[in-house]
Amino acid sequence: MPVVFLFFFVLTVRDYSNRLSPVSQAMRGQFGVMNAGLAESIGGVEVVKGNAQEEQEIDKFTDNATQFRDFFIKNGEIQAVYLPLLVYSIMLALGFFHALWLWRGGILSLGDVVAFMGLFGILRFPTFISIFSFDLVNLGIAGARRILELINTETELDENEAGHNAKIKGQVTFENVRFGYDKTAVLENINFSIEPGQTVAIVGQTGSGKTTLTRLINRIFDSQEGRVLIDGIDVKDWSLESLRSQISTIEQDIFLFSLTVAENIAFGNPEATREEIIQAAKEAQAHDFILGFADGYETEIGERGVTLSGGQRQRLAIARAFMTQPSILILDDSTSAIDSATEDKIQQAMRRISRQQTTFLITHRLSQIRWADRILVLSNGTIADQGTHEELLERSPAYQRIFARYE
Ligand code: ADP
Repeated sequence: MPVVFLFFFVLTVRDYSNRLSPVSQAMRGQFGVMNAGLAESIGGVEVVKGNAQEEQEIDKFTDNATQFRDFFIKNGEIQAVYLPLLVYSIMLALGFFHALWLWRGGILSLGDVVAFMGLFGILRFPTFISIFSFDLVNLGIAGARRILELINTETELDENEAGHNAKIKGQVTFENVRFGYDKTAVLENINFSIEPGQTVAIVGQTGSGKTTLTRLINRIFDSQEGRVLIDGIDVKDWSLESLRSQISTIEQDIFLFSLTVAENIAFGNPEATREEIIQAAKEAQAHDFILGFADGYETEIGERGVTLSGGQRQRLAIARAFMTQPSILILDDSTSAIDSATEDKIQQAMRRISRQQTTFLITHRLSQIRWADRILVLSNGTIADQGTHEELLERSPAYQRIFARYE
């Protein structure tokens, strides 16, 4: 009977596990959905309240929580009809009758029957506990699968660790470049060449592909056709680390870590001295507002510390870029939240350092566009024209249109 029991035990546990596993996985998944939704609602609480959408958000959460609860109940139902325990009880009863039968036949003594029943009883605990252990194992496997999925996600980008590694001089060339995030092209037929130390302004309407173009330079994305060359070498042949460590980008969404102000400025250059950090902050016009905080450069940013205004964040990002002394600097609308007087001062500092580096500027500010050596006019993903401010003003209708708006 114990052997027959083991046979049925394996069968029923396998059946239990098969029924439980999809529910466990769905439960884990739903738990993730619920938490992600909650984090989004709480993170965007100002927008939610500003648009009086509290009710909808509560409904969304309730909906998610209800679905999670339903899976939980289903999980419980499967546990409740746990067959191995039933099988155990039946087998125990059969074993008892078998033992009694053998005792009546004189094959077993009464003591043997008692001993046998006692030993059979030992199987009860593992049978009972397997209801929880298999549930836990299932949950564990479901969780591990999700984590492994993330860990095993590979970037399509070839990092080319053995690739070209040198100091970037700053010559940038685009040759017949085409790129699209999906099948539709966002950039097409892009051709231009920039000499080291030049400043290039990229202008064009929102959505014309300005940000996308700069993303091809430090290989956030790779072009699908054509080549992007830095110092005459295809960016794909550069070692990615060498390339990116020498290109600094100030994006539209500035990300600051939950570290101190000083650590955020020195992020790309952890060995920087305090003097260098202060110097960079001064050039980015950030020194004064930093000293305004109670802890100065040691002020924590983020959830545990101060919240910065858009302009303050931009100035910290500019200081960070000044720190790393990149060979190529990409500024994506990076002074849009800064007032003109402060911006003038930052520009003077930028002009001082930008002679040593190639600078790409995406901006709507005429004062910055004028100062550029070359202007690329993007229109629907192609370069409508390129040249200096004076040349374009004379011959390019697309440029005149953009320019007319600013005047
Ligand atoms: P700009 O900087 O000139 O405003 P972008 O380069 O940001 O323009 O965007 C160009 C086009 O590419 C837009 O139509 C935009 O919707 C699309 N796009 C931008 N980023 C992504 C992305 N990460 N995934 C898919 N499409 C994108």
